[in-house]
Order: sequence, then structure tokens, then C-alpha cells
Amino acid sequence: MSSAPSPGADRSADPYLPEHGNGGYRVEHYDLDLDYQVGPNRLDGQARISAVATQALSRFSLDLADLRVRRVLVDGKLAKHTHSGGKLRIRPQRAIPEGAGFRVEIRYSGTPKPIRGRWGEIGWEELTEGSLVAAQPIGAPSWFPCNDHPADKAAYRVSFTAATPFSVQVTGNLVSQQRRGSTTTHVFERPEPTSTYLMSVQVGPYTDVPLIGGEVPQRAAIPARLSERFAFDFGRHGQIMDCLQELFGPYPFGGHVVVVTDDDLDDPVEAQGMSIFGANHVDGQRTHERLVVHELAHQWFGNSLTIADWRHIWLNEGFATYAEWLWSERSGGPTAQQHAADWHAQIAGDLAIADPGVDRMFDPQVYKRGAITLHALRHELGDQPFFALLRRWATDHRHGTVSTPDFTALAAEFGTPDGFFTRWLDEEELPPLPS
Ligand SMILES: [Zn+2]
Repeated sequence: MSSAPSPGADRSADPYLPEHGNGGYRVEHYDLDLDYQVGPNRLDGQARISAVATQALSRFSLDLADLRVRRVLVDGKLAKHTHSGGKLRIRPQRAIPEGAGFRVEIRYSGTPKPIRGRWGEIGWEELTEGSLVAAQPIGAPSWFPCNDHPADKAAYRVSFTAATPFSVQVTGNLVSQQRRGSTTTHVFERPEPTSTYLMSVQVGPYTDVPLIGGEVPQRAAIPARLSERFAFDFGRHGQIMDCLQELFGPYPFGGHVVVVTDDDLDDPVEAQGMSIFGANHVDGQRTHERLVVHELAHQWFGNSLTIADWRHIWLNEGFATYAEWLWSERSGGPTAQQHAADWHAQIAGDLAIADPGVDRMFDPQVYKRGAITLHALRHELGDQPFFALLRRWATDHRHGTVSTPDFTALAAEFGTPDGFFTRWLDEEELPPLPS
């Protein structure tokens, strides 16, 4: 958030999703204690949020969807609150001075459900047996109170209790598991700065499967019925990881977990240190390997380097798509040049991807033209400087937030010609592909 909001007002610096995110403070840590019953899809939660006021606050707000708030404390004292339209508005007993740290405790409960929006239903979703969270870009408030803006990255501890037979995967490192009667409490810690939309919970009848790889621990939680197909489809996960590390630098998290749900999903999705696929993405033929690469590449571009606001989404999707093409050319498939030429011939070329607008932020052109732009840049710079630029980009901004001007400024240091990004990113017309 760049400019100072008016005192205590709901405000987000995001031009695309102004209804999400709140001004006046930054969150440092979320501590979530969640108790979940799978059958009735019932969630009982306690959130302890540690934040710092960026201005004096007589009131402030958080994003939280249709869950019932039972009690709110600020610094241990009961606080007045109202909850409607996805906003939890809180008035502490005493104003919080600028620069002061403060702690909010919220007890809440209900039956979580996805948030309806222009992209369909996003967030907490019930599965046939279990549930999942796929929160990009507006789904986080479906399961916890938060400052739902991609740039307000924080650390997390999540304690999640569910019936013992269920596999529970939360984005983070598993630090303890304790069985009590018929339930098990799983505690996860996520120390790296993480956007709200990249937090995820996966509950289902899954079996743990190791993924063979190099030094980065990689594993999967999958329905046992898909074991054989999965072993083939994800058989090169370790090699893909090694390839992306060579291209972009060290993997940014302590480990990676792949979740395959027993239900079909429209699209796979990335979370912090996690990729989520539907049963339909596992066919025993490696049909969807490019998506394995895509979701893994988001760990660098999107998750470690998070966009400052949603206008810059090509920095996530263009880079993840280009990673697909790089893996293709390195694993004996079509070259990046062939992929770029194919897509260049197919896409319309009527979208300025540096600011595609909220209605078109997930337009295929953001993905494909974004990747073609990187390919054209590679052509301009030459392989050695181009890949050095990608590694510098991923290293300099590791665990930070980024914007298109940040990238174009760095690329200029590597000799990008004047006007290159204007043509490729700011103008609607698609420039010719260099051959
Ligand atoms: Zn993507």
C-alpha cells in the first residue's frame, strides 16, 4: 500500500479488487486454531492476528465472508464490531497509535463456502469427501479473517483439528501431529512472507507418497486409487524441480507438496509450497505435465515474488507459462520458439497485458502473450544475459513484492532496447515475433 488512507477507513490500494484489503495497518503474523468437522462442513476458528498500525487507528477492518463472529478482542480487551458485506469492522476500546503493534483475537464459526464473484466460486470448497481451498484471488476470507491484499504478506501458524482418518495438508511445514480420541491436531508453520490467497487447506482421504527428487523435499497426498497413474505422470517432478532451480535459482521454500483431490477440478492451482490438481489431471499419460511445471514455477513467480497488485499478473502467469516452454525444450519436446510461434499465430493481440483490466486479468493472452514477451526478450538479449536476468529477478526480490516497472528497470540493465516493453506490454497490438 503506497498512499496513506483516511483514518480507519476501509481502503485497498488494489485498483482491480478495491473491496478486498484494508488500510491503516500491516499484518505480521496470523495464528489460526481451526477445528473442522468434515461431514457437516463445520468450522470453529480462533484467529490471533499480530499487526502494526501504519497510522493512528480509532477503528479498522478485516475481510471475512459469511462466518459468524462470536467475539473480538484487541490487545486482550473486548472490542465493538460489526460484520456485513464481507467486512469485519472493529472499534478498539482505545485508539492504536501510529507505529504501534497490536493483536486482534477473533472467535468465529460456521459452514465455510466459496465466495461468489466474476470468476465463479473461489475459496473454501466442499469435496465429495473433504474440502479444499483454492483462493486466488479473492477466496481467503472464506475461511479466516485477514487483510486480503496480495502485498500484505505475513507469516502463519495454523493448527488444524479434524477426524483422524483424514489427511490434512496446510501450506507450511508440519511441526507436530497429536492424536486425541477420534481427532488429530496438525500444526503447520509458514515462516516465509505469504499472501493470504496463497494459504490453503486440503482435507481428504489421501495417501502420502514420496516424490523422488534432489535436495528439496517433495511429496504428494493423493487418492490411493490413482497411485499407479500418478507415479508415471509425476515421475519427473524431481527433474522439473532441478530444471527450474537451474533456471531461476534456489527453490524458495523448505519443501513442496502436491495434492491430488479425489474429485475433478477445472484447473490446477498453486499455493505456498503446494500445487493442487484434480483427479482429472492424472491420466497415466503425462497429458498435463505442462501444468505440473506451471504450478511449480509459480513458487518463484507469484509466491516468492508476489505482485504488488493484480494489474501486474502477467509477472505470474507469463513467467509460469514460459517455464512450461523451457521445460518442453529441455525435455525433448517442442522448443520455446515453436511454442511462441504457435501461440503468436493463435492469440488475438488486442490486450495490453501490463494492465489487462479486472475482467481480463485471467485472459489467455495474459498467459501466452506474457510468455511470448519473455521469449522475444530472450531473442533481444541472447540466452546468457536473458537467463542471468531471470535469476537476478528471482533472487533480488525473493520473498518480496514486485511490479512491472521493477522488472522493466532490471531488464534495462541487461540491455533491453528502448521501446521494447512499450510495444509488448503497453500497446494492444501484438508485435511481430522475432525469428
Ligand atoms: Zn498460473
